[in-house]
Amino acid sequence: MTVFQPNSLNEALELLNGHPEATLLSGGTDLMVGVNFGRFRPSAVVSLNRIDSLKGCELIDGGATLRIGSGVTYAALMASEVASLAPALVEAARTVGSPQIRNAATIGGNLGTCSPAGDTLPVLSALGADIEIASIGGTRLVAFDDFMVGPKRSCLEAGECVIAVRVPVRSGWQGFAKVGTRNAMVIAICNVAFVADRNSERVTLGLGSVGPTILNAPDASKWIETRIDWQDWTCLASPDEILTEFRPLVSSAARPIDDHRSTAHYRAHAVGVLASRLLSRAFQPEVRERLHG
Ligand SMILES: Cc1cc2nc3c(=O)[nH]c(=O)nc-3n(C[C@H](O)[C@H](O)[C@H](O)COP(=O)(O)OP(=O)(O)OC[C@H]3O[C@@H](n4cnc5c(N)ncnc54)[C@H](O)[C@@H]3O)c2cc1C
Repeated sequence: MTVFQPNSLNEALELLNGHPEATLLSGGTDLMVGVNFGRFRPSAVVSLNRIDSLKGCELIDGGATLRIGSGVTYAALMASEVASLAPALVEAARTVGSPQIRNAATIGGNLGTCSPAGDTLPVLSALGADIEIASIGGTRLVAFDDFMVGPKRSCLEAGECVIAVRVPVRSGWQGFAKVGTRNAMVIAICNVAFVADRNSERVTLGLGSVGPTILNAPDASKWIETRIDWQDWTCLASPDEILTEFRPLVSSAARPIDDHRSTAHYRAHAVGVLASRLLSRAFQPEVRERLHG
């Protein structure tokens, strides 16, 4: 196996162009598992680890957008003051693997693998993130919902590489929740991101591991959007209505399968429960105080 270790993005893109059979390597926490288990034998690897320009978080568009380099690890995301403007993404990062995994694994690798269970992906969908893709031909921006086209399938073409994600900075509240077979070091049975955007008065849900791609729950979003006093930051729906109306609307948006991690039935139930819990967290008195403060 030939391993290339470029020091710049241009060098990496030239290598990818010249070696279309090459596989990208970031933290290796997905790729090397496949190699070690003999499931995957790349003939050439282009490592992105020495490219510092992929490792930063910055605010762009006059502070309206958070740009996160594809080589940013989960540990770096959790430590970044700028990334705290996307708290749901930081919450998701905190649930990934163990400290060792979070020190090596990157957001670019989560997108490269494109698993429906990837923890950052429901957040990127719910926040309306764009993915920045580069090749020697230039760069293009793709909405996350167009980037992920199937289970472990993205719209990336040969010679292309994810270089950053662009996340709109939202006002209001956002959160992430996950169910697994244990409390830590676990791939999601299902995961949910919830974004209540005060400026647009919209609620967006990202549901992971309950379909071939990340799903949204537009009927549940519409239902709750009309039951929020956006100025006062109060949820007007009663706990009973959330249980009998909102929760089933979320569950019915799921298209899960039975697999070694869980049953379809449990997954559909659990996404409804997680979304309802996130809804109640969004309208806790301390959130209201912060927004009014
Ligand atoms: C013990 C363990 C626990 C884990 N727990 C979780 C978890 O809780 N939640 C979760 O979501 N994941 C988990 N994972 C999976 C993995 O850590 C994540 O998917 C991680 O984000 C992968 O990032 P990486 O940098 O290690 O990617 P790599 O392994 O380097 O690459 C993964 C894939 O993406 C491609 N790729 C890498 N970089 C790019 C790029 N810039 N552009 C395009 N393609 C690229 C590679 O070619 C490869 O196909 C776990 C893995 C392990 C081993």
